Amino acid sequence: MFKSIRLISFDLDDTLWPCHPVIRAAEAECYAWLAREAPRLTERRTADELREHRLALARRHAEIAHDLTVVRLRSLVELLAAEGYPASVAEAACDVFRIARNRVRPYAEVISGLDRLRPHYRLVSVTNGNSQITETPLRASFHHSLTAAEVGAAKPDPAIFHAASARSGIPLDAFLHVGDDPVRDVAAAQTIGLKTVWVNRRRAAWPTDLIPADLEVSDIAELVDYLIG
Ligand SMILES: [Mg+2]
Repeated sequence: MFKSIRLISFDLDDTLWPCHPVIRAAEAECYAWLAREAPRLTERRTADELREHRLALARRHAEIAHDLTVVRLRSLVELLAAEGYPASVAEAACDVFRIARNRVRPYAEVISGLDRLRPHYRLVSVTNGNSQITETPLRASFHHSLTAAEVGAAKPDPAIFHAASARSGIPLDAFLHVGDDPVRDVAAAQTIGLKTVWVNRRRAAWPTDLIPADLEVSDIAELVDYLIG
C-alpha cells in the first residue's frame, strides 16, 4: 500500500509524546515564576484565568491564533501591563514556559522506531504546537521539522504539508502522514491526497463521519514493523 512513499511526516503532540502532562507542568512552572516576579498579577488572577484570557485573545485575533507562542506573549503583556509591569516581564515568563514546554518525554518506542525508519525515508515533523524540536530528546530524529508558526497556518490547513514538500523536493504523492488527530492529521492530509496513518494509542473509535486512515496503529513500533519489518 505504501510502496511509493519517500517521506513520512509526523505529528508530535500525542503522537510521539504525551502533550498534556508537559503543558500542565510548564503552565504551573510559569505561574509559580509569575507569583515570585509579578505578584500583583497572580494575586488578582488564577492560573485558569490566565488561560481563559489567552484563549479569548486567540479567538479575537484569528490572524495569530496559529502561533501559540505569540498568543501567550501578547496575553501576558496585556495582563501584566494592567498591573504596571513592563513587557520584559512577559517575555521572561514566556521563556520559563518555553523551556519547560520542551521537557517532553517521548513514548518508549518512539526514538528507536524513528532510528529504524530514518535510513529508508525522509522524516519530517509537522506540529501545531510550540515545542522546539532541537531542545527535545527527538532533536536528532528528523531530517527537518516544521511548525504551524513558521508556515503561518495550523493543521487542518494543509499549508504545512506543502511547505514540507517544497523544503524536501519530494512531491505530496510520495508522502505518508502519521498523527493522532482524526481531523487535524488524517482528514487534513487526505484533502490533498496524502496517504495517512492514524496513531490510536487509546483504542478510541474512529469518528463515523470521517474517512478512515489508510492504516491504523497503536504505536510507532507497529508502524515500523508494517513498513520495514
Ligand atoms: Mg497531535
